[in-house]
Amino acid sequence: MTLPETSTPTDFIRAVIKNDLATGKYGGRVHTRFPPEPNGYLHIGHAKSILLNFGIAAEFGGLCNLRFDDTNPSKEEVEYVDSIIGDVHWLGADWGGRLFYASDYFDQLYQFAVQLIKLGKAFVCDLSAEEMREHRGTLTEPGKDSPYRNRPVEENLDLFERMRQGEFPDGSRTLRAKIDMASPNINLRDPVIYRIKKESHHRTGDKWCIYPMYDYTHCISDSLEGITHSICTLEFEDHRPLYDWFLDTLHLYHPQQIEFARLNLSYTVMSKRRLLELVNSGTVDGWDDPRMPTLSGMRRRGVTPEAIRAFCERIGVAKNDSVIDIALLEYCIREDQNKRAQRAMAVLRPLKVVLDNYPPDQVEMLACVNNPEDPSAGTRQVPFSRVLYIDQDDFREEPPPKYFRLAPGREVRLRYGYFIKCVDVVKDAHTGEVTELHCTYDPQTKGGFAPDGRKVKATIHWVSAEHSLPAEVRHYDRLFSKENPMEAEEGKDWRAYLNPNSLEALTGCRVEPVLGEAKPGERFQFERLGYYCADLKDHISGNLVFNRTVTLRDEWAKIESRQAQE
Ligand code: ATP
Ligand code: MG
Repeated sequence: MTLPETSTPTDFIRAVIKNDLATGKYGGRVHTRFPPEPNGYLHIGHAKSILLNFGIAAEFGGLCNLRFDDTNPSKEEVEYVDSIIGDVHWLGADWGGRLFYASDYFDQLYQFAVQLIKLGKAFVCDLSAEEMREHRGTLTEPGKDSPYRNRPVEENLDLFERMRQGEFPDGSRTLRAKIDMASPNINLRDPVIYRIKKESHHRTGDKWCIYPMYDYTHCISDSLEGITHSICTLEFEDHRPLYDWFLDTLHLYHPQQIEFARLNLSYTVMSKRRLLELVNSGTVDGWDDPRMPTLSGMRRRGVTPEAIRAFCERIGVAKNDSVIDIALLEYCIREDQNKRAQRAMAVLRPLKVVLDNYPPDQVEMLACVNNPEDPSAGTRQVPFSRVLYIDQDDFREEPPPKYFRLAPGREVRLRYGYFIKCVDVVKDAHTGEVTELHCTYDPQTKGGFAPDGRKVKATIHWVSAEHSLPAEVRHYDRLFSKENPMEAEEGKDWRAYLNPNSLEALTGCRVEPVLGEAKPGERFQFERLGYYCADLKDHISGNLVFNRTVTLRDEWAKIESRQAQE
């Protein structure tokens, strides 16, 4: 299996648009929108939709609006609005001043509802939610008409106005479209257009106590903004006849709704409701926890917008639902980081190494390459001295077969430094734990090569004990241990599959001096370990905190080569 190449995207949506441009359907205009509901933070699924909508507008010389679908006052908050604006901007999308709110249209939506009543196409219904459910029917049985369905227009107008005035309690009445209770499509069985909710709205305050439903609001908002192609996810396919019905019945300008498959990723959940639950239960450290599939979480983890864009281009746009392997996302992140991340050395679990034959007061500055992928990044000077730290993992007292790193009597190369040979091992008298190694260094091997041509089988990283800085390094693993947590076994639910080891905080790490100057958000490759980023929240001078963005190991390439061998 080979990875699909990235190139100018072609897909069924772009094919529709090209065709519409060719036939002059919207007078040559292309105008899309991204319509988030401000009831949570954006996740990578939303990124797919953002890049699709804004990408199409850019490709076809059109426009794309950012519009908040803020019709539900109880779940929506200003915090979410602000985070969404920040995230869309971070992804590089440009709405060019066209930032709208469905709540801006509440007056017009009300007038259109009055018009529907006058047309005999809407009525005030006194059924409770429970009764309405009983009347609705099922997929196989038609529904029953509401007893209030044939109220005279005048009575409907009067009741609707009084609903607006706040005369009736929440849930006591609704305004419903009069369509067809026998329709095989349940969405057309006299859907509710307005409900009573005596709640303040984050934008309109207490002006309204009736709020329009999503389906009704969405098509009219699209129409008012002159949207041409209203791109949404597949679950709205069955709502399209309703989208069309409202606009046709009201004789309004009519955009075309087009549905595509939403992004699902393995080893995570993607619905805002479930992500909110993880936040509220304290399972994660907020919406921007680096384990979350949210854009703010990924940003905090060190992922760039470019990596997300590359990923979305690779997965493309299709009409059938599928689950994308999270390894593909990790592959895209790794590719992106490799190009940009400056190299540095960090020791996660320090083991002290004393170079017995190195002059005690000597300090040398060794030139280390900043980025082998980018010669223009140059080199930096890293201090080297008699006492070093290496990673505990890089030493075995009794090395297993194929373990080529340091062991008693064995010689290895220090990255950008010298060959060293282990001559003695100091252990804790009580625990037997190795606490210190004594080594000799070969002054002839500066730069990592022996003049006599002798070879070593391993190169390990290191820091100077005296010059290195303490740091905390956080390793993140997949949030869930099951590929599809939503496919739960009997008696379990998705929460049962949370990975208990998704966060490992390593304190007591030692990092080379240059990392002391790292700014929050700055990215590095820790040599031999992975890609890391200074934490946006907790990293400050004097308290260095690095998040692992992604490991160096390329699972996806491994899968590929295994498949090639089969
Ligand atoms: P969720 O189901 O995650 O809570 P939502 O669909 O309720 O998301 P909205 O705020 O309504 O979230 O979504 C805004 C836009 O993003 C919609 O057009 C929606 O279709 C799209 N979108 C949401 N989730 C995905 C996804 N996983 N993949 C692609 N597009 C998505
Ligand atoms: Mg939604």
